[in-house]
Amino acid sequence: MKHIAIIGAGASGLFLAKQCSGDDRLQVFVFEKSKNVGTKLRASGGGKANIFNDNITPEGYNHPDFARHLLQKVTPDILRQEFERVGLRMITDEEGRVYPMSQFSRTVVDILCDNLAPNVHLETEHEVKRVAQKDGFWYVDDCPVPFDHIVFASGTTANMILQNRKHYNAYLDSLGLKINNLQPSLVGFKIKDYPKILSGCRVHVIASLYHGDTLVHREPGEVTFKDDGISGIVILNLSAYYNRLDDKQNCSIELNFLYQDEDYDVNQHLAKYHSLKGLLHPQLNDLYEQRPFDVKKFRLEIDEPYDLAFAQVCHGGIDIAEVDDHFALKRCPGIYVMGEMLDMDGVCGGYNLFFAFASALIVFENL
Ligand SMILES: Cc1cc2nc3c(=O)[nH]c(=O)nc-3n(C[C@H](O)[C@H](O)[C@H](O)COP(=O)(O)OP(=O)(O)OC[C@H]3O[C@@H](n4cnc5c(N)ncnc54)[C@H](O)[C@@H]3O)c2cc1C
Repeated sequence: MKHIAIIGAGASGLFLAKQCSGDDRLQVFVFEKSKNVGTKLRASGGGKANIFNDNITPEGYNHPDFARHLLQKVTPDILRQEFERVGLRMITDEEGRVYPMSQFSRTVVDILCDNLAPNVHLETEHEVKRVAQKDGFWYVDDCPVPFDHIVFASGTTANMILQNRKHYNAYLDSLGLKINNLQPSLVGFKIKDYPKILSGCRVHVIASLYHGDTLVHREPGEVTFKDDGISGIVILNLSAYYNRLDDKQNCSIELNFLYQDEDYDVNQHLAKYHSLKGLLHPQLNDLYEQRPFDVKKFRLEIDEPYDLAFAQVCHGGIDIAEVDDHFALKRCPGIYVMGEMLDMDGVCGGYNLFFAFASALIVFENL
């Protein structure tokens, strides 16, 4: 009989616990610092939880080679089968994004938590502060159980209130791991000299991230203008590519407001109607009348990303070179790391939950 400790009952921890449930080779203890489990999973996808994507590509992640390798072992089809096996019905939209049929994230949490077999022990309101090795076993805080394996599944500080951050994964301190700086990802940007007149406006655009004059990434989607910057899924995705840049100075976002009518001659329109009122969102037109701009190439200079508290995930975390193919720490045999604690982040569309679940599946297969 092997004893396993899972630290964190979020997406990856709960998925692993469910895999282990009823496996008579294993006694599993899940430690969760909060009163509730699966908090981020519940918040995911605007409460609908976009749990993975049928069209997932390695390039959507910050480490495409690592993702390519993982996708050879765990495909979206395999994940779908695993969820179907535990009774979750799913729907897929035209972009390949997969949601629970209920369109309610709590369904996923309930499915993972309900009817866990007696070999899985869930302890909430236990924040793990220390892990230590003695006589070939691992120990968690003052828990007397000698563990054969510990699985780190504690996520990151993205989207947490500031006060909680100082406690972030303090139990990692003694292990000497390479941990890359945590930066907000899937987050909006504050903009220099921001045209506040646009606040509240939402429009479909093609958005392009530039570093100087070099195009970094371009994609279509809806942009939302906030009080001091911009957000919306297309902008969150640009933030993932922004984080991959070593030098983040001199970055800007270019918006094409006319991409659905690319060949339309704006100058002729202006000559004929003396305004862009019939062409643009009213707030964009108000701005144009104050300060004319190129409606196919509207440049906004990035000041900085919004705070981690507004980010969906973190870029950074435990360096992927610290783990082997099975997500085991190379320098601490017996310990596995999964989900967002690793320096792996993906774009919107189910990439991050896919990684959390897929890494848990690989860990389970190696326990
Ligand atoms: C608003 C929002 C929307 C999102 N939408 C989507 C989406 O639609 N699709 C998608 O793919 N991704 C989405 N994500 C990202 C996704 O939710 C995360 O990437 C995913 O939940 C990470 O799973 P995890 O298991 O690594 O960590 P988490 O789910 O964050 O779980 C970590 C758990 O560990 C606990 N913990 C931390 N430290 C300790 C400790 N010391 N002791 C005990 N317990 C501890 C935490 O309380 C938490 O319960 C979204 C994120 C947010 C914030």
